[in-house]
Amino acid sequence: MLQITSISKQYKTGDFIQKALDDVSLNLRDSEFVAILGPSGSGKTTLLNIIGGLDRYDSGDLVINGISTKRYKDRDWDSYRNHTIGFVFQSYNLIPHQSILSNVELALTISGIPKSERRERARKALEQVGLGDHVDKRPNQLSGGQMQRVAIARALVNNPSIVLADEPTGALDSDTSVQIMDLLRDVARDRLVVMVTHNPELAEQYATRIVELRDGTIRSDSDPFEPEPESDAAAKPAVHRTMGRASMSFATSLALSFNNLGTKKARTILTSFAGSIGIIGIALILSISTGVNTYITNIQRDTMTSYPIEIQSQSFDMSSIMKSQMSDAEEGRSASAKTDGIYPDDSGIKQVTSLTSSITKNNLSKFKKYLDDPNSEIHKYVGANGIQYTYDVKFSVYDRDPKGTLVNADGVTVGKSSDTAMSSKMASLGAQSSQNMADIQRTQMSMITGKTDENTAPDSFNEIMPGAKNNQRISKVITDNYEVVKGSWPKARDQVVLVLDQNNKVSLTTLYELGLLPASDYNDMMTKINDGKDVKTDTGRIDYDKALDQTLRLVPAADQYVKNADGTYRYVGDDADEVAKLADKAMKLKIVGVVRPHADSKTTPLAAGIGYTRDLTNYLIDYANDSAIVKAQKASPKRNVLNDLAFSPADDNAKAADAKTYVAGLGVSDKATMARSMLGDSASGASAGSAASANGASAYGTAGASGAAGASAAMGTMSEQQLADQFDAYIAAAPTSTLVKIYDQYVSSGNYDDNLAAFGVVGRDAPTAISIYTDSFDDKNAVGDAISHYNDGVKKADKIVYNDYVGLMMNSVTTIINVISYVLMAFVSVSLIVSSIMIGIITYISVLERTKEIGILRAMGASKRNISQVFNAETGIIGLLAGLIGIGVTLLLLIPGNQLLHHLIGNNDVNAVLPVGGGVILVVLSVVLTLIGGLIPSKKAARQDPATALRTE
Ligand code: ADP
Ligand code: MG
Repeated sequence: MLQITSISKQYKTGDFIQKALDDVSLNLRDSEFVAILGPSGSGKTTLLNIIGGLDRYDSGDLVINGISTKRYKDRDWDSYRNHTIGFVFQSYNLIPHQSILSNVELALTISGIPKSERRERARKALEQVGLGDHVDKRPNQLSGGQMQRVAIARALVNNPSIVLADEPTGALDSDTSVQIMDLLRDVARDRLVVMVTHNPELAEQYATRIVELRDGTIRSDSDPFEPEPESDAAAKPAVHRTMGRASMSFATSLALSFNNLGTKKARTILTSFAGSIGIIGIALILSISTGVNTYITNIQRDTMTSYPIEIQSQSFDMSSIMKSQMSDAEEGRSASAKTDGIYPDDSGIKQVTSLTSSITKNNLSKFKKYLDDPNSEIHKYVGANGIQYTYDVKFSVYDRDPKGTLVNADGVTVGKSSDTAMSSKMASLGAQSSQNMADIQRTQMSMITGKTDENTAPDSFNEIMPGAKNNQRISKVITDNYEVVKGSWPKARDQVVLVLDQNNKVSLTTLYELGLLPASDYNDMMTKINDGKDVKTDTGRIDYDKALDQTLRLVPAADQYVKNADGTYRYVGDDADEVAKLADKAMKLKIVGVVRPHADSKTTPLAAGIGYTRDLTNYLIDYANDSAIVKAQKASPKRNVLNDLAFSPADDNAKAADAKTYVAGLGVSDKATMARSMLGDSASGASAGSAASANGASAYGTAGASGAAGASAAMGTMSEQQLADQFDAYIAAAPTSTLVKIYDQYVSSGNYDDNLAAFGVVGRDAPTAISIYTDSFDDKNAVGDAISHYNDGVKKADKIVYNDYVGLMMNSVTTIINVISYVLMAFVSVSLIVSSIMIGIITYISVLERTKEIGILRAMGASKRNISQVFNAETGIIGLLAGLIGIGVTLLLLIPGNQLLHHLIGNNDVNAVLPVGGGVILVVLSVVLTLIGGLIPSKKAARQDPATALRTE
């Protein structure tokens, strides 16, 4: 029993208030066919909607089976609509994209009834209305009458106790109307049917009771019903009673969504594709930016591998020179130029001054302590290649050429004139194919200081960079960028490799030095060069095996000194016989492999020639420290083990005494040579007069002139013995000042440190150079900052000076790289925003246009949550699809895209790739964005009054 007591309802549109129902009271029996008649706008639909729980009344009460609905909550209304009410509308309100079976099933789906039962009951309901043969048709494949019958089946499928029909025949012709009315009359046999119509004939013919409505009030009632006074439930307090569940599980709503999407595949795919366009945009830009960033990172790492931060034990300020050179290069007349006379340009002199004054010694042992501390700031920025320490170990290498001649790998072929050696040095310098920064810096250093670095191995011998970790013999950078064309990499300290350049070449001089070509040919060639003749060089092929067969003999620096009978040591490195003896018992170095850079190597840190391992360096450091001569020198740090003289005599008298001892110990020919140089000098000095001595050319002139001037004229004709005798006499009579000068020029043989260095001593805590490798320019700059911080914390003398060549060369490049990175980032952000908005709008529109569908679902008892759930599941699925389509299309586009890119750039260095993480994030992003885009409209739609939603077309 349904009781409507004093219900009023008004609609407010702006300032206008429309009274749709005005104090309507009506009691309805459990089983009757009520027709509500009335002109349009009289409030019939409003009344029906209120009875059906689609609309709310303003005042009064609706009492259902004795229970007031005043305290009904949303879910009570949902349950009421789902279980108690069946709706039939004038415009059928079927969901167009679903089969009629699904349409009928919907009410059951909402109440969470299992699928098989749903099917069964829906089918039965359709049979009941005579549509058993049409279950799989879409609504638009049916006639109006058939559609209305589907709507009736849908209304009946839940077996409701009340069926409400709003002008069910309004859109039908009279014949069909009769069929529908027959059907409704059958329905009304065991339940309440309330039908709105404005066809009085039909109402008269079929209804059991006619209620006339006009301007929101009841005008007449053909069969009023007053319930028994004692059963008047309106007086009782309203108690809520659950009428059953009206709720879908998430799985059901997901299934329903899938089903929904499945019934409109084309639409779903199109929507997804529209959504995916944004994702494709981001994914493509992300791919390109990943490719470019990888390329930039690689370039940076390669550059930093080729040009690490090099800190030499001795350094100078390169940047100030570059700066002054750059300002010189500026064209045009400067504003401050004076033009009224001749002015000297002192910039050249100033440059030299600033250069020489900038030369500093770096305290690398202290710096190494800083580097050894794992907590030092610098370690945060050090790259994969780590920090490398260079130790300039000193050794010579000898080998036998194809003719059996003993060859010195240092370029000074044994027994040949120093002229030839010089040419060979020049030749090898010119041929040095791969000079790294350290070499360049060293060469510049020696050019500036005028000193050549003597404490080195043969030029063609280079240490192979060890790995950043202690146990790695050869760095990954080397093995990655070089291929072994024959043999293998060294596996022991006495194994070396021959390094070729990219074109399989190695300097001709090096080949002679290694004894792979006959030394005699080389010497002939050098002689010809010195004579100014043309030479024909030997450029024939040499077998790899020939190199692998060659044995090199390594003689550490300390071994080149032999002990004299008096306990002093003597250098024998220039004595052919002694060298031959040394070479025979020397350590054998085996060339175990031939390597060359890969064709596409980006960095080639190994110079062509022989590469040896850190093992050999370590061995030589230990060897020098354990050698007899080093031990002897260390035992007497004040005296030179080479001549048993004090390194620093106490005063001039001691120096003079040392000079006398020195001369006395010389052989006849040495004395004669000395006499020629000293006495001959003084003679010419005397004859040339004051000009020569002013020149400073005659160091000994004043002392020797008086005694030797006469004799000097005849000096050219004297024998060595006579000269030696005359020199002895001269020394015996020489004043202390002359002897001190002799001491300074000939005797003072360096100092303790120089001696140890000559013997090949290298301190492990005092590397010759430190190379700090980073992986990017930013890290390199950070390392520079870390060194500045280190410098801030130490004494002036311990401050580290180095030249940042990469910084000097690459500053503008870094700026460009940063600009590119920012531009790419901006692109990604913009496309992200654009596609978010696009996806949002697409989803918004697609949800909005289904407001009516939402209204239908609500009418059938779906709760707001159900609606949101279904729509969210749908938009989620579309978002997922959009993401997947986007990623798939992107991956496909990248194939021709990369080909185009490679073609445009001209190489394969830049590869656009979609990172896996990025792809996953984009799919998630697509889902999230679509959900957000759908959330707002679906929330809005769900919150909408179902009656209003249904009125939407
Ligand atoms: P009927 O179904 O008898 O033709 P309705 O119940 O649809 O009439 O409407 C009754 C009155 O209420 C009409 O004047 C109509 O304009 C008004 N009305 C109905 N629904 C709304 C609404 N959502 N907003 C404003 N006015 C409404
Ligand atoms: Mg109406």
